[in-house]
Amino acid sequence: MANDKLPVMEQFYTIQGEGRFTGHAAYFIRLAGCDVGCVWCDVKESWHTDNYPKISPKELADETSKNASTIVVITGGEPAMYDLSELCNELHDVGKKVHIETSGAHELKGQFDWVTLSPKKFKPPVSSSYAVANELKIIVFNKSDFEWAKQFRKLVPKNCLLYLQPEWSKRDEMEPLIIDFVKNNPEWNISLQTHKYLDIP
Ligand code: SF4
Repeated sequence: MANDKLPVMEQFYTIQGEGRFTGHAAYFIRLAGCDVGCVWCDVKESWHTDNYPKISPKELADETSKNASTIVVITGGEPAMYDLSELCNELHDVGKKVHIETSGAHELKGQFDWVTLSPKKFKPPVSSSYAVANELKIIVFNKSDFEWAKQFRKLVPKNCLLYLQPEWSKRDEMEPLIIDFVKNNPEWNISLQTHKYLDIP
């Protein structure tokens, strides 16, 4: 139900560290709950909804209004597990741009201003998620992930931005490979988790 309260693991105002909006101030709402199960997940505590407060879309929108943010990023967990229509409406009503970061494993429900599609091998995207992607972000954990990334290029819109991002624990090994790949395939870009280098949430 669109009006249901949502399980919120955390919410905070910070700087977007990844992708096209790197360096932009953004308010993050991290919803709890994920059924994707990436082995290298760095927010495994988000997988279950137990012990997290359930908050209404209106309350969440009111919370975002307590700072100067223009962008609200809905992340997780896997936020597309929920119908986010009401949350998008409430955030738009208070003048925010609504971004979402999703694996695409569930059909998106809501009006989003920016969709970051980050497919995972552990539960592939549903077909409807490709057409709405504004940026495609592939996490590179293994050498084989470059070939895996290429298959998604054909599935997203032509103007979709393409990013390769080293998985944090493998960054020393993968960054040189990503640099070489991007030099040979210049339609792709490097995304780094700059918030981790800056030591901010
Ligand atoms: Fe973790 Fe995100 Fe993968 Fe879920 S989709 S397991 S939250 S990295």
